[in-house]
Amino acid sequence: MNALLKIYELLYKRYGSQYWWPGESCFEIILGAILTQNTNWQNVEKAIANLKAANLMDQHRLYGLLPEQLAELIRPAGYYNMKAVRIKNFLNWLFETHDGSLESAGQMDTHSLRAALLGIKGIGPETADSITLYAFNKPVFVVDTYTARVMTRHRHIEPGAGYEALQELFTSALPADYKLFNEYHALLVRVGKDFCRKTARCPGCPLEELPHDTDMQDY
Ligand code: SF4
Repeated sequence: MNALLKIYELLYKRYGSQYWWPGESCFEIILGAILTQNTNWQNVEKAIANLKAANLMDQHRLYGLLPEQLAELIRPAGYYNMKAVRIKNFLNWLFETHDGSLESAGQMDTHSLRAALLGIKGIGPETADSITLYAFNKPVFVVDTYTARVMTRHRHIEPGAGYEALQELFTSALPADYKLFNEYHALLVRVGKDFCRKTARCPGCPLEELPHDTDMQDY
């Protein structure tokens, strides 16, 4: 078994399925991916609750809203003016290129969809990949700080590796299976929160039996 599948196996054995991404619809997952930038999930949930209470969890209804009205509703998520513009940018793209249809956007091939999302102002690689994977069920691996930390400490990549290099580490070693990518990223977040924090807490970690470098405490 390759080393990355071994990590997955150990994490899954300990934690089981993480049922990501939390969200009742494709559109809710997209909004969550934009709203979660630079904030915690509890704040995102409050912003999403506001949108649901206003009956605005729908791309057609949200498209008609002024940015300042949207900003007020998503205020709990922080950076609300900026995030309102980013959501509007996404909606503009959706309506200009797919007539507002998420189903039509979802018919794009993985590479084209990811590239189109990256072309939207304010949508960076992690957000674009989260949307591609979790909202549209397409196999791109989402990379974040937890991924970098675990992979660096387990000597699978050099410290300071960039987003694309980290992503390539997974996509070159794993089958292009969106369900596997979905679960793997969620499990890395889980172990990152529980054990692989800024200062590693290796005793009891599901990956403790694998070779790792505990001197890299400050990654
Ligand atoms: S806490 Fe230690 S054993 Fe667990 S993932 Fe991080 S470096 Fe590996």
